[in-house]
Amino acid sequence: MMDKQAKHKIKSQKLKEKVDSHVAQAQTERGVVLIITGNGKGKSTAGFGTVARCVGHGYQAAVVQFIKGTWDCGERTLLEQHDVPFAVMGTGFTWETQDRESDIAAAEKVWREAKLFLADPQYHLVLLDELTYMLGYDYLNKEEVIEVINNRPKNQSVVITGRGAIKALKDIADTVSEIKDIKHAFKAGIKARKGVDW
Ligand code: ATP
Ligand code: MG
Repeated sequence: MMDKQAKHKIKSQKLKEKVDSHVAQAQTERGVVLIITGNGKGKSTAGFGTVARCVGHGYQAAVVQFIKGTWDCGERTLLEQHDVPFAVMGTGFTWETQDRESDIAAAEKVWREAKLFLADPQYHLVLLDELTYMLGYDYLNKEEVIEVINNRPKNQSVVITGRGAIKALKDIADTVSEIKDIKHAFKAGIKARKGVDW
């Protein structure tokens, strides 16, 4: 009978071999498209976490927020001190949108700013926060958005967040993660917290 220790050793050796072979196989160097979708909390947080990671290495990053911006957003205040440009919808889309025409105009305006970042190789990373809704609601032309993302500079990565990412977007992504909602404090009547939720 093999003891627990010996079994564990064999198992972890096999795992190590597998991981090493995957690491050896990954040879391509290029920017990636990363989607963080799903109904659970943590999508934008993860997007901003990636921006922090990028800026921490001395690379340049840009942020585009496809939702009416709140002035009081903690990550913006911090990242602007590190020269991260923000393009934010001044008016238009909120969660309880009423006016489709003005939402579309606001979406198109911020998309024009996004396109400048997505054409500029000095940006190592571009965060397109809440972009999924613009495509889900047909506020932006899907084909154009996909084309611009596909034609970005070779070493630039893009992080896209928001619920309900459409298939065409997931198809062009390299990494897609879905955050599952298990429970959320808000549903228990706890108010959104400054420094936690924004
Ligand atoms: P966060 O910005 O906290 O990472 P998110 O980007 O995953 O959240 P959004 O759908 O963009 O989620 O929602 C923005 C706001 O709604 C945040 O204040 C967040 O805490 C809250 N929220 C996120 N998920 C849920 C949920 N499942 N139920 C209730 N509120 C939520
Ligand atoms: Mg979000």
